Amino acid sequence: MSSLPGRAPANAPCGVLRERVLELLDRSLDTGSAMACVEHVAGCAACRADLAHNRRLRDALARQARAAPASLRARVAAMLGAHARARADSLAHTGG
Ligand SMILES: [Zn+2]
Repeated sequence: MSSLPGRAPANAPCGVLRERVLELLDRSLDTGSAMACVEHVAGCAACRADLAHNRRLRDALARQARAAPASLRARVAAMLGAHARARADSLAHTGG
């Protein structure tokens, strides 16, 4: 079998990497996963664009959050927490 031109993406498929990208931006990934993520992104234009998009979104949110009143910040934090919990819950149900 001939090898693909250029760098092959890391083992994990794009879908998994997209999930990881958020954790990568959060710096909540362990070193090994972060390396695999960075390696994949380096060889995958789609994931690179996704990472850049998410980073811009986060930057914009961070800027807004600094300017926002504490009550709004608390609401956004609660929303993000609920989203993360829902995702973890759905993963727990589909996994294994
Ligand atoms: Zn990819």
